[in-house]
Amino acid sequence: MVRVQGGVMAAPVRLKSILALVTGGGSGIGRAVSQRLSQEGASVAVVDLNIKSANDTVQTLLRDFPGQDHAAFAADVSQSESVNALMELIQSRFSVPPRVAVSSAGITRDEFLLRMSEESFDAVLNINLKGPFLITQAVARAVVASGHNGGSIINIGSIVGKVGNLGQANYAASKAGVEGLTRTAAKELSKFGIRCNTVLPGFIATPMTDKVPQKVLDKFADMIPLGRLGQPEDVADVIAFLASDDSKYITGASIEVTGGLYL
Ligand code: NAP
Repeated sequence: MVRVQGGVMAAPVRLKSILALVTGGGSGIGRAVSQRLSQEGASVAVVDLNIKSANDTVQTLLRDFPGQDHAAFAADVSQSESVNALMELIQSRFSVPPRVAVSSAGITRDEFLLRMSEESFDAVLNINLKGPFLITQAVARAVVASGHNGGSIINIGSIVGKVGNLGQANYAASKAGVEGLTRTAAKELSKFGIRCNTVLPGFIATPMTDKVPQKVLDKFADMIPLGRLGQPEDVADVIAFLASDDSKYITGASIEVTGGLYL
């Protein structure tokens, strides 16, 4: 529901008193998601490999949405010990488990298949696929243990997981895996009131795509029916919807946020 204040359309506040966990929250899409969920009234546990970038995001939340409680945490989503320690820290800091969890941590290690090393394949799978597995499992376990069912888990896949992309065998495999993981989690966790969905961004302007040569970005921009690369806020808008009860009858879905691009 959109509120009207003095004739100006105000952003909806659909996540009041909800604790949200966002991995990769120190950069790009994860930072925009942290900001958007906070704008919707959530307290945010901002998680990143790099505590400084997570802290920088928290500073923007405290500046823009004073009066809400937010905190930064360092964790490596590809390591179960790190994720388990993270969940303990979050629950002791906020006294409740997160009811919204967004896995945005991710990496690329692009190389053509014929030259791709086993190390770069494993690194991408460990962070992009095992990471969402560990976070989904840890958050669901914490919600179930709390005795208060209900929640929304949102994993970030990619349009590349559906259609493949040159030089991204590891990345495409990891993102296709995220969809399978999330659909299965949706089936298993529905009895606890936990919904699980995947968002599939196309090309979004972030530090991740800064690595892509400008001529390649220009080529993709020409192929996007809506005529521009996406912004992190375009993805955050959809994630806020999936986090909220406005999507209460949606689970196991994959939602493309690509400006119409289908490679
Ligand atoms: P980004 O700006 O590079 O942000 C990714 C964040 O994840 C960084 O802060 C990074 O930290 C963190 N991270 C990396 N490894 C981690 C680990 N092991 N544990 C915890 N955090 C870790 O990238 P983005 O564009 O926002 O991407 C966010 C998500 O969207 C990713 O899953 C990506 O695959 C997906 N996606 C992006 C696009 C796009 O066009 N940008 C398109 C489709 C899907 P460091 O910087 O310290 O390494």
